[in-house]
Order: sequence, then C-alpha cells, then structure tokens
Amino acid sequence: MAQLNIQRPTGTKDVVPSQMYKWNTVEGLVKSHAEAFGFKEIRIPTFEDIGLFVRSVGDTTDVVQKEMYSVSATGDEGYALRPEGTAGTIRALIENGLINDGLPQKLFYVLSCFRHEKPQAGRLREFHQFGVEMAGTKDPRADAEVISLAKSILDAAGLKNIQLNINSIGCPECRATYQQALREYFKPSLDEMCGTCHSRYEKNPLRLLDCKSEICSEIAKGAPVITDYLCDDCRTHFESLQKYLTAMGIEFAINPKIVRGLDYYTKTVFEFISTDIGSQGTVCGGGRYDGLIEELGGKPCPALGFGMGLERLILTMENQGVEFAEEETCDIYLGSMGDEAALKAMQLCRELRTDGVRAECDVVGRSVRAQMKYADKVKAKFSVMLGGNELEAGTAKLRNMETGEETDIPLDDNFAKVFNAMLIAYQLSGEEFDNVDLF
Ligand code: ATP
Ligand code: MG
Repeated sequence: MAQLNIQRPTGTKDVVPSQMYKWNTVEGLVKSHAEAFGFKEIRIPTFEDIGLFVRSVGDTTDVVQKEMYSVSATGDEGYALRPEGTAGTIRALIENGLINDGLPQKLFYVLSCFRHEKPQAGRLREFHQFGVEMAGTKDPRADAEVISLAKSILDAAGLKNIQLNINSIGCPECRATYQQALREYFKPSLDEMCGTCHSRYEKNPLRLLDCKSEICSEIAKGAPVITDYLCDDCRTHFESLQKYLTAMGIEFAINPKIVRGLDYYTKTVFEFISTDIGSQGTVCGGGRYDGLIEELGGKPCPALGFGMGLERLILTMENQGVEFAEEETCDIYLGSMGDEAALKAMQLCRELRTDGVRAECDVVGRSVRAQMKYADKVKAKFSVMLGGNELEAGTAKLRNMETGEETDIPLDDNFAKVFNAMLIAYQLSGEEFDNVDLF
C-alpha cells in the first residue's frame, strides 16, 4: 500500500510544544507593552476582498503583484489571504464605526500573514506580525509614540544592535515634485534597468528606490533624496518628530532611501533593523498613512502604525542569546497504585485544577516506576504517590522533586488548599533565592 507522506507547505513552520515558550514570551511582551500604551486588541479575518489590498497596499507593489495568495471557492471569487494587517484593520475600523468612537483609536493585533516569497531564514510564506494602528491624529507626537512603543518592545526583548532608521516620504503634493525629479534622474539609465522598473518608472517612480536587483539598486544610489523636496508642512512634521524622539532618548538615523514596500505611506516611515540576521534584518517597519482611511471609504482621518515580524524577532533574540521566559511546568504529579488510589488521584487532580494548580495523574495505567519517570519528564515540582497505606492513614508524603525533601500532607477536603499554600511558599522562596545578589 502506498505510504501517505504529506509534509508542511514550503515556507511554513510548525511550532512544537518545546519551542512554544519563545512565542509565549514574545506575544506576552508585545501585548503587555501595547496595553501599557493604551492600545486595544482587534481580530480580523484571515482573508479579505482582494480589492482591499490592491487599493491600500498598492497595485505596483511586490506584495500585491508577486506575493499575494488569492483564494477562491466555488461561487466565491476575489478574495486574498492577508499579506499584512493594516488594510484589514482599517477596513474593520471603518466598517464597525470605531472611527466615530473617540479618537485617537489605538488598535493592536497579533496575526498570521501570507506572502509567496522565496523562503529563507526570517522569510516565510506564512509568518506572524504584531502590529499597531493609531487613527485620528496628524500630530508628530503620535509618530513618536508609536516608534517609542516599538522601541520599548525591542528593548524589553533584550535586543542589542538594533538601529532605528527614519525618513519622510512627504504628502501627495510634495511627492509629485519628487517623483518628477526621480523620473528625470532615472530616464538616462532606464535601458539598463529591469522590466519591473520600467513599469515602476511609469506608474510609481518611488518604487524604483526599492528594487532588489543589483543593477537597479546600484543606479538608485545616486538618486535625488526626498528630504530635499519636502513641503513646509511635511518638513516641520519631520523635524518635530526628531525633536520628540531626541527628548525621549530614542536614537535614530535619517535614511532618505527608505520608502517601504507598501504604497499607503505618507510623511513618516521608519524601520528597526538588526545587524544580526543577515539580509532579513528588518524586524519592524511602519509609518504614517494619512490618506488610507479616506481611500477605503472612511471620512478623512490621518493615521499611522507599524508591523513587527515575530519570527524575525525570535530569530534575532536567539542569535543574540537572549533568555526567554521559562516554560511553565507541572506543579504536582499524583501517582497511584491500585484502583482505589487511582480514583482518589483523579478526584484530587480535579480539585487542584479548580484552584488553578497544574496537576497531572496517570491516565495510561503505568507502573509506579514509570509514573515517577513521567513526573520527572514533565518536570513536576512536587509529587505524591497514593496507595492502600496512604488511603488508610489519610495522609501521604508530598515530595519536593528538586530537593527530594518529603512532607506529610493530609488527604482530606483541604488537600488542594494546603497544597496551594505550599506551592506559593515554594515559589516565593525560589524568587527570593533568584534575587539574592551573590557579589
Ligand atoms: P522585507 O523588506 O524584509 O521584505 P517588508 O518591507 O516586505 O520586509 P513589511 O511589509 O513592512 O515588510 O512587513 C513588516 C514586517 O513583517 C517586516 O519588517 C518583517 O519583520 C516582517 N516580514 C515581512 N515579510 C516577511 C516574511 N516573508 N517572513 C517573515 N517576516 C516577514
Ligand atoms: Mg517584503
């Protein structure tokens, strides 16, 4: 008979339980920071009307032209898996009337994104983004606030060697002048440039700066820079942002070459780059998109946000040897010998769990020895072994699995409460010990 040998799709990953603690660390970190900054969580569909992405991300971008997965089912045409989170979040903001609900609206999400890319370390076809969006403010303080949130997370993650690059890509008015200057600059070299750049030249010259081809990026090196073309409003905005960042002690570099891969940006764009994960170094990217809400049918409303790649964040943390929060393990394993003891173990387990204790007992029918081995394997902090003698005496020995120390514990109605109190005392003593300054 033929063997079924199905593997996961290229560019996707399984997170096995032994690795999950890294995700829990990172997700806990991003959520707690977003909440501390007053952002509220939102969840949106995995797929959306394809037109949403074409309109917002932009039809000349790589993301839409080359990387987007369209999905269809009989009678259901025109959907795509989300390649990023902003478009769907803004659609939801408009559709649910959140935009009328007191501004600024500050939203965050952790979600999967899909892009048909060439998979490599830190570049997947299904990846995860933590993202935030703030709608209803054109003030540069909002830009500084959003950047400050990303920075706090990267700092709290323990990362070093992360550089913040900022730029302003202006508003539609000053960008038009700049695009003209770009066309003039690239015109004489156009013959040498790639096919995609020919259409970029026509439709969206800013994208010429974003081309990954060696020849095109070499030519782009001498291109005029946007910061020389900003109108007064955009220049003042950019200068104020820099003042706020400086006041908050956030170091940055101005990089006039950053245009970002998505079309909806206006004014501020920024990236946090790690020098430790090679060419996939952009851990976080974002910016302002003052025209997007109106473009998608909402009332005019300036907004901004960022997306942070969680695989890249974890990869950078691993490469830098940062410690993740420890995995939670079993608090108590209740072993048993014989049917009557097995009943007692099940009953006590249930009571313990009601009290929030991580309790486990034998559900396989193993020997005592094998049960104790399992207790070790799941790194149980405590164990008890119940048998005829213990049931008769109404008391058992609670074993500290780390030290081997044993204490009597009554097998009565207070078992869960007594154990819980001991567990808390044990955890507190552990903390005290961890905090002891040895030097
Ligand atoms: P890159 O230049 O590396 O392709 P991008 O400009 O396409 O990045 P954005 O669209 O701004 O990236 O997405 C925000 C963040 O999502 C990126 O900074 C990165 O951390 C992450 N990201 C983007 N594409 C991928 C991917 N294919 N696999 C893993 N993470 C990704
Ligand atoms: Mg990309």
